[in-house]
Amino acid sequence: MASISTQSVTEIHHWNNSLFSFKTTRDRSLKFENGHFLMLGMEVEGKPLMRAYSIASPNYDEELEFLSIKVADGALTSRLQNIRVGDEVFVSSKPTGTLVVDHLLEGRNLYLISTGTGLAPFISIIQDPEVYEKFDKIILTHGVRYVSELAYQHFIKQDLPNNEFFGAEVRQKLIYYPSVTREEFQTQGRLTDLMSSGTLFNDIGLPKADPELDRFMICGSPSMLTDTCQILDDWGFEESRQGIKAHYVIERAFVE
Ligand SMILES: Cc1cc2nc3c(=O)[nH]c(=O)nc-3n(C[C@H](O)[C@H](O)[C@H](O)COP(=O)(O)OP(=O)(O)OC[C@H]3O[C@@H](n4cnc5c(N)ncnc54)[C@H](O)[C@@H]3O)c2cc1C
Repeated sequence: MASISTQSVTEIHHWNNSLFSFKTTRDRSLKFENGHFLMLGMEVEGKPLMRAYSIASPNYDEELEFLSIKVADGALTSRLQNIRVGDEVFVSSKPTGTLVVDHLLEGRNLYLISTGTGLAPFISIIQDPEVYEKFDKIILTHGVRYVSELAYQHFIKQDLPNNEFFGAEVRQKLIYYPSVTREEFQTQGRLTDLMSSGTLFNDIGLPKADPELDRFMICGSPSMLTDTCQILDDWGFEESRQGIKAHYVIERAFVE
């Protein structure tokens, strides 16, 4: 296992009873690409208990940020959900992953398709000024069951468009498309259904995705990934493997 460092928790925000996010200090030596994940954990019975976590903060930030599920009987998150500012967590020193823009061919629009905590890596990516240079539009989708699971809404809709360095690009290029399955909301339904029916493209006023022009990054449950890949494959998109550039990249948000 890669070596691990100890970091202090600096901020915690509970979104609801199933989701929270937190920030930690960061070693200056920790390098990562926006979209990467690392191993994060706590000491349990005298040993580090580590789990994979996407980094939600951008790679230029002085701190690290994570979005976490609270699994009632989860070995790590039953404990992690009780952390307080000043507590220590372990962070591995070798971030990695496939959700990186460099694995994609050049394109027109970048679709970020996420469900649940799969939003986390995209919170990092939408803070990357290079992404706004490379693409005409960045479409951030977030599929959840309940409205209260739509984490980071204020950040996406208010803070980021007012970013002092690249707020103008965000206002011009970022399209936020949240969808809820089990409650009334402006957009309802599973993202896979909204994609395959064409509703998503109609709603945002863009043409149906085209492998010649559009690129996708996908992060969600194993079944969501299977279904989304099937749709893209049927439309002629190819997945990037072993770092060879292609039309889309995927990462699991968790393992079942
Ligand atoms: C590449 C990768 C990146 C990940 N990034 C994140 C992240 O940014 N945030 C995060 O909260 N988790 C993330 N996970 C999942 C994470 O590694 C742990 O599974 C999670 O923290 C729960 O740990 P646990 O020990 O409490 O329960 P575990 O024993 O690990 O999981 C118990 C069960 O809970 C469910 N579960 C676990 N994680 C999730 C989740 N995120 N959403 C919905 N159901 C889940 C699954 O059914 C799982 O079998 C990631 C996993 C992978 C493989």
